[in-house]
Amino acid sequence: MKGFITNIKRNSLDDGPGIRTVLFFKGCPLRCVWCQNPETQSPNQEISYECEKCVHCHKCQEHCPENAIDFSETYPINKKLCTYCGGCIDVCKMEALKFVGKYYTISQLIKAIMKDKVFYDNSGGGITLSGGEPTMQTEFLHQFLKELKSKDIHVCLETCGYFNTDTFFKLLFPHIDLIYFDLKIFDPTLHKRYCGVSNEVIFKNFEKMATQENIELLPRIPLVPNITSFKKNLELWATYLKKFNIKKIGLLPYNPLWLSKIPSLGKSTNYTNSDWLSNEQKSEIKVQFSEFEYKNF
Ligand code: SF4
Ligand code: SF4
Repeated sequence: MKGFITNIKRNSLDDGPGIRTVLFFKGCPLRCVWCQNPETQSPNQEISYECEKCVHCHKCQEHCPENAIDFSETYPINKKLCTYCGGCIDVCKMEALKFVGKYYTISQLIKAIMKDKVFYDNSGGGITLSGGEPTMQTEFLHQFLKELKSKDIHVCLETCGYFNTDTFFKLLFPHIDLIYFDLKIFDPTLHKRYCGVSNEVIFKNFEKMATQENIELLPRIPLVPNITSFKKNLELWATYLKKFNIKKIGLLPYNPLWLSKIPSLGKSTNYTNSDWLSNEQKSEIKVQFSEFEYKNF
């Protein structure tokens, strides 16, 4: 049994308490148009191409058994023809081509994680499961979480909230210490338009989560210009969260750096906002959440 992971980030101070190792799982049921980690959306193997590193030696093209490489395109790999054999990656001396994501066994991950156990213990840190949506790899995660708990490692899950309720609460929930639960767009029609699915399941799961004991829950709202950070949406979330007596939240300012990843994956996007939130926008948002506790931004 293996987990499909795009990145292992050690020594993180931003993804939960203390010093943490963050695992980015590949695959997500949502298609948020502003996704900060577009390489984690697809659950399938992908190849990234960094044109800045490419010296156009065309060795990869000569080596490809499927004739799937065409440098007249900005992204040279024809996804319909490619079998993901990895031959082109092996011959590229410039490392311009790379697999996006790697399969790990539980023991490989535990070995990597245990290197930093002393830092987790001394800082109140641990592991953060991020993505993508880690719960999409339920069976692997179930076994992995049991192993983490047997080693007394603190676990934080970052989730979009779109998962099967019964399976989650039976198999995964008992082994998690802290949940960062992302809430994006309150209106179901807008949610479907900008995130690809309705938010009905997300509301259901959040409401069940908010009434559980023995779990730390932090709702987080990404602040995306013109999509999530407009006044009405934030008002609706503030009112909703007060119903559950939630006092602490996470506010995540939009970061446009994800836009640079899109061409290297052979993808395109209709949302091309490259502006950070202005100080004026930030001040307005802070007023709207003045009754909550949140990390300053
Ligand atoms: S082998 Fe690497 S450097 Fe050469 S053309 Fe292919 S991607 Fe570019
Ligand atoms: S992974 Fe294999 S099939 Fe795909 S482009 Fe590279 S060499 Fe060709």
